[in-house]
Amino acid sequence: MTATEQPRKVLLVEDDDGIATPLAAALRGDGHDVLRVATGRDALARAAEGVAAVVLDLGLPDLDGVEVCRRLRSVAPDVPVLMLTARTSEADVVVGLDAGADDYVTKPFRLAELLARLRALLRRAGPEAEQGAQVLQVQDVRVDVGARRSWRGPDQLELAPKEFDLLTLLMRHAGTVVSRERIMEQVWDTNWFGSTKTLDMHVSWLRRKLGDDASAPRYITTVRGVGLRFER
Ligand code: CA
Repeated sequence: MTATEQPRKVLLVEDDDGIATPLAAALRGDGHDVLRVATGRDALARAAEGVAAVVLDLGLPDLDGVEVCRRLRSVAPDVPVLMLTARTSEADVVVGLDAGADDYVTKPFRLAELLARLRALLRRAGPEAEQGAQVLQVQDVRVDVGARRSWRGPDQLELAPKEFDLLTLLMRHAGTVVSRERIMEQVWDTNWFGSTKTLDMHVSWLRRKLGDDASAPRYITTVRGVGLRFER
């Protein structure tokens, strides 16, 4: 998928016509191609087809907006998400950001402010995210996300799908710890209720394929009680 085949579409998820109609018009006025849906299920289906950004209302009729946001991260991990929230408490905003939203505006919002924030998110995401293809390189490990291929130095790695997803997630956040909960949600698409034996096994397989040593890691460090960090 390239930028020329895929217009710069913004997915607007809002069930309230009183908000969605003027907002869609403002987005179009700002040069965006707008795809408007009113439910979480439609949002997830359309996001999977490829969009440049999502403006997501947290109050939806079918699914909780935070849950939609979390699932969006697995179908479209690179697509920036701007939350619309009527909830003003700081805790709610934190929950939304933890679920993977990139920024938020609180209702009632000024259209100009929302447009400015969306432009900033799209700039940050850059042309690569728009195309859905991305090459990550950290140390001598390289991942071609679109082609689902990876290398250590000149050698191509033979990774199972979950190992590839795990490596990609860790490399996207290289230098910072990714929590076990987040890994379980994004790689295994499941909520975490205790055992992460599956994760531990995949980490050990991935380390072996990278030629890494758990006791003196060069690539993947286990941060006890927290998660994993891919070293820069
Ligand atoms: Ca709503």
